[in-house]
Amino acid sequence: MANKPFNAFKLAQDQFDAVAEQLGLDQATKDFLRNPDREYHFNIPVRMDDGIVKIFRGFRVQHNDARGPCKGGIRFHPHETIDTVRALAMWMTWKCSVVDIPLGGGKGGVICDPHNLSMREQEGICRGWVRQIAQNIGPIQDVPAPDVMTSGQHMVWMMDEYEKIHGAKFPGFITGKPVNMGGSLGRTEATGYGVIYTLREALREMGTDIKFTKASFQGFGKVSQHAVKLYREYGGTPVCVSCWNQEEQKSYSFLKKDGIDIDKLLSITDRFGGINKKQAESIGYEILPGDAWIEQDVDVLVPAALENQVTEETAPKIHKNVKIMVEGANGPTTIEADKVIKERGIFVIPDFLANAGGVMCSYFEQVQCNMNYFWPKDEVLGKLDAKMTDAYLKVSALARKRKLYMRDAAYMIAIQRVAEACKMRGWV
Ligand code: GLU
Repeated sequence: MANKPFNAFKLAQDQFDAVAEQLGLDQATKDFLRNPDREYHFNIPVRMDDGIVKIFRGFRVQHNDARGPCKGGIRFHPHETIDTVRALAMWMTWKCSVVDIPLGGGKGGVICDPHNLSMREQEGICRGWVRQIAQNIGPIQDVPAPDVMTSGQHMVWMMDEYEKIHGAKFPGFITGKPVNMGGSLGRTEATGYGVIYTLREALREMGTDIKFTKASFQGFGKVSQHAVKLYREYGGTPVCVSCWNQEEQKSYSFLKKDGIDIDKLLSITDRFGGINKKQAESIGYEILPGDAWIEQDVDVLVPAALENQVTEETAPKIHKNVKIMVEGANGPTTIEADKVIKERGIFVIPDFLANAGGVMCSYFEQVQCNMNYFWPKDEVLGKLDAKMTDAYLKVSALARKRKLYMRDAAYMIAIQRVAEACKMRGWV
């Protein structure tokens, strides 16, 4: 989608620098927080199904642990770079802080494409990743979780390897596990639901009934699927989703003006969120180019795919009726696009606030693992809703009071808390 060279870490640092300046942080704190505390780069040798050993490149970045152990997912992506992992680790620090959970920020990645790997080969990558870093991660150091193209199964393999190495059971080592393996009910839905809880609050503040709104989503993976579902349950009309087509190596948008039937669409979707084009056409979807999701005449846009999607080139295509953009993905909007959106007065619920439901529920999962006592789903989702709503209201109150852009208000709260923790520990 984007042709311009893009560096997610530069975006994360630029966003940080601007707010650090406004907050008047001292030089040491600025220098400390604009780079990760620690990072690990390593080789992961895996014997492939054809008998040949292939070396994959793995990363873990620990951005900051002043407020608690680092926390963040592991992505499997063919275009993974250390700078993307650095940015995502930094965003995790702000994410955990803005929703006020006692965790820091980390992120991991492996350069690989699970589309072309057998489950046995993926297991080899998971176990190899843990072996390389087993002394530097753990329930009280750094807790991984799923992210782009990783799932509960990957988490169980990683947990199993970690437990073998350390010779005991550590269910709190990793989150996003399947429910029968120490996972939390509600974790699968949590990120998508969190996106919609914040949207619900924003619409309520605007005095708009969600039932009279339409929304367009980018992506149809774990976040988008559940966001579409809850948005529909609340009475909204989701009209468009997009997804990556692995065969053609490009993305498509799927438009259904009278509203997406989520169960039907899921029945023709693969495990990576790829929708079958032919079948979609046969049940009434218009198949449009990948970018078309952003041009739709809707009230709400939800970029919930990857970083660098709402750019200088695509932002001007946003329809004049769009009032809110809720960022389900991490880092979907570039600095240049942010300017366009600001000028047009579109209300943004920034990524590290909007999509914090996932890590919030991961935190609940850790709490339940530590107690070895698991809550019913209603209780998990009730707690998730309460904490997401509270975090949203604090950010929107600050934005209103100080006439700030929502992203800046969220950054102010998050950075301030982390800076204070660093100061209290005597680090800066
Ligand atoms: N990968 C998710 C995120 O970007 C969840 C992280 C977690 O649960 O630790 O927020």
